[in-house]
Amino acid sequence: MEQTLLRSRIVHFRDDGHGSPDAALEYFEDGVIGFADGHIALLEDARAARARGLDLAAAEHRPEALVISGFIDAHVHAPQLPVMGSYGEKLLDWLEKYTFPAELQYADEEISRRQSDFFIDALLARGTTSAMVFTTSFAHSAEHLFEAAYRAGMRLVAGKVLMDRNAPAGLLDTAERARRESAALIGKWHNKGRLGYAVTPRFAGTSSREQLAVAGQLLRDHPDLWLQTHLSENPDEVKWTASLFPEARDYLHTYEMHGLHGGRSVYAHCIHLSDSELERMADAGAAVAFCPSSNLFLGSGLLKLQKLRERGIPVALATDVGAGTSLCQLQSMGEAYKVCQLGDYPLGAAEAFYMATLGAARALHLDRHIGNLAPGKEADLLLLNGTLNPLLRERLRHCRDIREELFMYMTLADERIVERTYVGGRLAYLSPLAESL
Ligand SMILES: [Zn+2]
Repeated sequence: MEQTLLRSRIVHFRDDGHGSPDAALEYFEDGVIGFADGHIALLEDARAARARGLDLAAAEHRPEALVISGFIDAHVHAPQLPVMGSYGEKLLDWLEKYTFPAELQYADEEISRRQSDFFIDALLARGTTSAMVFTTSFAHSAEHLFEAAYRAGMRLVAGKVLMDRNAPAGLLDTAERARRESAALIGKWHNKGRLGYAVTPRFAGTSSREQLAVAGQLLRDHPDLWLQTHLSENPDEVKWTASLFPEARDYLHTYEMHGLHGGRSVYAHCIHLSDSELERMADAGAAVAFCPSSNLFLGSGLLKLQKLRERGIPVALATDVGAGTSLCQLQSMGEAYKVCQLGDYPLGAAEAFYMATLGAARALHLDRHIGNLAPGKEADLLLLNGTLNPLLRERLRHCRDIREELFMYMTLADERIVERTYVGGRLAYLSPLAESL
């Protein structure tokens, strides 16, 4: 099998940096990475590689670029690209006015197929090589997304949305349909190639108790599935959920009561949780998808990242498009920095990149396969090129080290610096801006 060799500056992430900041990242000023057969075969300093006899003449040499592992988006809605940036509402009204009408469009299979392909291409153009994705309550929308991700060779987790109350009639399924359609999708797509299935109740407020119980049963029947849903995003949503479930002691309990809480659960937002809920999250090993761009845009609130960190709750960064205003995880990092600043926590670049790479992989239990550039992992990686953005190129000249450079990427850059995206070792995206180089 032919090996692709890239000689460049290379950085990847090994830890959140809280124990030992120096251990958080590994940086090669002049490194070489090789990949073959979909996996990373070597990663080392170029001089060391030459000393042991590797012929570097075979490597493409890009000293100005930066190789980094692909980004992971832990929470994003494929059908919501058409409502990104919609004006004026907070969560519950935003769902009514923008989200549900957009998802109703997916009744049309042609729209669903075309938009799913567009969504996957849009992720790859932003350096996102893996994601945990909501589709719609139409089973065919999950089919179309899995088909597109399978063609791209992506490691992607997704599910059909379960929703049988408090939404337009055209979007509602039933407890029985949720069971039947989810089971069929699981049988067809879970563990096919690099794909995985997540049981996906939208949130407690749009599912009956019967449907939540069905979701819990699916998870018991298939212990290697994921659960993805929303939790405690907005104060009105928290109150509304309490009114729908008077028997629950708090929001998290609405999931716990139905077997929807465990180590493979990923809850988006988690902004307004009580100490008791945080403790139960930590005890279960459940993960949080931190969606700063969405939380600011909808005025939902400010996540206290430190509180989660102190309890050891895994946190993965996410865009939450369409409420998020960018599909680019570099921009999520910049927004995360601002949210954390308002909580008196200066989020460092290594930790921000960790939450979008290895930290996300760990939160999603995918770190055996992806998350950094360690030999043996799947070859999902990016070639970033700060010179593709003229203003950034000027700013980078004043950076003293890799951490400062990374901080520029998360605060001043966007998808324009993604020159190439490799998925499973295959070139899946090449920036049109790179053609002028
Ligand atoms: Zn969401």
